[in-house]
Amino acid sequence: ATEAEEKDLVIIGGGVAGYVAAIKAGQEGMKVTCIEKRGTLGGTCLNVGCIPSKALLNNSHLYHQILHDTKARGIDVGDVKLNLAQMMKSKDTAVSGLTKGVEFLFKKNGVEYVKGTASFAGEHEIKVNLTEGGEKTIIGKNILIATGSEATPFPGLEIDEKRIITSTGAIALDKVPESMVVIGGGIIGLEMGSVWSRLGSKVTVVEFLGQIGGPGMDAEISKAAQKILKKQGIDFKLNTKVLGGDATGDKIKLEVEAAKGGKKETLDADVVLVAIGRRPYTAGLGLENVGLETDEKGRLVIDHEFRTKLPHIRVVGDCTFGPMLAHKAEEEAVAVVEWIKKGYGHVNYGAIPSVMYTHPEVAWVGQNEQEVKASGVEYKIGTFPFSANSRAKTNLDTEGFVKMIADAKTDRILGIHIIGPNAGEMIAEGTLALEYGASTEDIGRTSHAHPTLAEAFKEAAMATYGKAIHF
Ligand code: FAD
Ligand code: NAD
Repeated sequence: ATEAEEKDLVIIGGGVAGYVAAIKAGQEGMKVTCIEKRGTLGGTCLNVGCIPSKALLNNSHLYHQILHDTKARGIDVGDVKLNLAQMMKSKDTAVSGLTKGVEFLFKKNGVEYVKGTASFAGEHEIKVNLTEGGEKTIIGKNILIATGSEATPFPGLEIDEKRIITSTGAIALDKVPESMVVIGGGIIGLEMGSVWSRLGSKVTVVEFLGQIGGPGMDAEISKAAQKILKKQGIDFKLNTKVLGGDATGDKIKLEVEAAKGGKKETLDADVVLVAIGRRPYTAGLGLENVGLETDEKGRLVIDHEFRTKLPHIRVVGDCTFGPMLAHKAEEEAVAVVEWIKKGYGHVNYGAIPSVMYTHPEVAWVGQNEQEVKASGVEYKIGTFPFSANSRAKTNLDTEGFVKMIADAKTDRILGIHIIGPNAGEMIAEGTLALEYGASTEDIGRTSHAHPTLAEAFKEAAMATYGKAIHF
């Protein structure tokens, strides 16, 4: 065997967490290697997550809008047809452009990219089973685990990614199923449910809890989202649990019952999407070889410097604590390299935005009303509906509202929640406000261009400490 190479930093996983850390380390002049087994860089997000899902959300929205929302705009269209194969191709083009872009950035920043599966052979020794065959050992002064997450399976329902699918199957179906049952009304369920509903599937979402949107969504916003999505044709069964399924016949039969017990019912579906959350992925890493353990949720345990109990081995992204979001992974990736190189680094977990890319979009940052109430802080709320916003009116896109929650005594913003057009872009302003410790009056006294959707944001702020002008 050839002698093992030594690197300043060896990164396991080329997802957002791993690739961003690799680029940052390259920029800092470190000798860095990133090991990825998938064959392409970008991880879940670029290959089977954020990017392909947003491509399909965007194009399915256009299709749906052309079918149902042109007449009032003075556009008469003829025969509208779905070309699903081309829609998938367009998604694949976005994905491959971006994953190749990351490879280019590796070269530009002097990052070594090793294709293969990594595991711990010793505390500083990483063994790689190379994709092209053979193996090699790399020694890391520092090692970063960024192995991400995988879909949580539903016991008793075997995933084949054709009829019983996770999000990975849901971005690649080759025909529009007549009916789809989605288990789990979180972000994946509602985004992918929206895609297939717009393309013609009869979609039913079964959710265990009494509200949709997954953890973090404000209850009032969640209710509004459910009402709008219902109007778009998605059916909801809340407070309902799935008992099991049978996929032997033509249709999949799912047995469900009220979460608190009681009436049972069977739902028929051509496709079942399992979207009940994701879990950290550390299988095959050989953690036992170095004595590292995971907690009850499968997460690698770290301190505020992202260190495991072996201080040269650190962890960022979906396989450790915090929300499973690409931009959270990205912040951690920069911070962890700063810790290694400079001895300091910081992520403000209180100001990480969340966006659900349905139409309208839902976006939030900071605490929701339930959380503020539970904290015991005295608070006030300002809201502004898009139906009173001039730009939303010109765009015939007026559903939703902005909701701002602030400390009643200091006026400091505690949380911002938006359901409405472009909410995902608008929340950047809210995140910045939170980072700067802004008050609602700071925003209310800042000029916002007219006519823009962002004026609804300003007016919700005004409504928190005084009155909105246009409502
Ligand atoms: P991952 O992206 O999972 O990357 C880990 C990588 O490590 C993988 O490529 C894996 O192959 C590799 N790996 C694992 N083990 C080994 C090993 N032993 N050796 C070598 N390589 C290994 N987040 C958002 O912020 N916005 C969105 O719009 C959004 N949409 C999403 C849509 C879907 C359908 C899904 C599933 C997720 C979405 N997410 C979104 C979440 C986002 O994808 C994750 O938070 C993000 O990918 C986490 O990055 P990561 O690098 O920690 O993990
Ligand atoms: P999630 O945690 O957002 O939602 C899962 C939902 O399933 C919850 O509402 C939960 O109550 C429900 N559930 C759990 N077990 C159930 C059961 N047995 N029966 C019925 N319902 C059940 O998880 P997800 O939607 O699978 O998404 C996984 C991760 O991916 C999330 O962390 C999410 O942040 C991330 N993601 C983000 C985006 C985005 O940022 N736009 C998009 C997709 C995915």
